[in-house]
Amino acid sequence: MQTVHSNRLHQSRTIEQLITGIATSDGAGVKLTRVLTGKLQRRLDPFLMLDAFGSDDPDDYIAGFPDHPHRGFETITYMLAGRMRHRDSAGHEGLLENGGVQWMTAGRGVIHSEIPEQEDGVMEGFQLWLNLPAQRKMSEPWYRDIASAQIPEYVTTDGVTVRVIAGSSNGVAGAVSREITEPLYLDIHLSAGTSFSTALPATHNAFIYVYRGAVKVGDTWVEAERMGILSNAQDSDGVTMSTIEDTRLILIAGKPLNEGIVQYGPFVMNTEQEIDEAINDFRGGRLA
Ligand code: MN
Repeated sequence: MQTVHSNRLHQSRTIEQLITGIATSDGAGVKLTRVLTGKLQRRLDPFLMLDAFGSDDPDDYIAGFPDHPHRGFETITYMLAGRMRHRDSAGHEGLLENGGVQWMTAGRGVIHSEIPEQEDGVMEGFQLWLNLPAQRKMSEPWYRDIASAQIPEYVTTDGVTVRVIAGSSNGVAGAVSREITEPLYLDIHLSAGTSFSTALPATHNAFIYVYRGAVKVGDTWVEAERMGILSNAQDSDGVTMSTIEDTRLILIAGKPLNEGIVQYGPFVMNTEQEIDEAINDFRGGRLA
């Protein structure tokens, strides 16, 4: 693993708002916490949704997500622990396992299923929805499984370990890059008494979600199971965080599209008319 010096920042972003997720269920009854909900889609453009799931009770996850459609965006599933089988109408199939990522571009449409391949034990992870620019919403579907060993990692001279799922951080390029929205997706592991910095373009909307421990950004502590939305001050060049206990969090940032956002369940388009077309295409068997 590469050792790097964390970026030295001129000024860190601060925490603008703390968010507590909403307990809900989706698919065939999978219990999850919706952290990024519809009312934050404009503020956190280009991100549309973040679900956190984590349970050691099979009843909370065993039914999975049977066949369902998507159009107009990308789904990025990061599995911290557990095994989930993906199958879709574009002919892709894959097994998502401990520490791996599945990146699916729904584009003009896919019908897929996500079904657990375990009957007990812990299943824990995240599903993020990343919007597509208007010009790419009807593109061909795309899919990639990224095994844990293929996700670039680095450790800072302070001993902070960072997994770079997308974008680049402290000079280390991630597993996936995307034009236009330029998403950054990091999984950051801090041990007690350490701090960490990474550069962020001032234009990007950004947030963190802490899943173990707690982290301090500016004067604000973000506790476990909380999202902290990072401020967009023009003179900030990144984010610095520190902690007094072992802490794990994800940091997600992207360049806003500033286009219309109309969502109807699993379809996210720019206009009501395009949503009507998606529903008609799905009902008529033309979506995928
Ligand atoms: Mn899905």
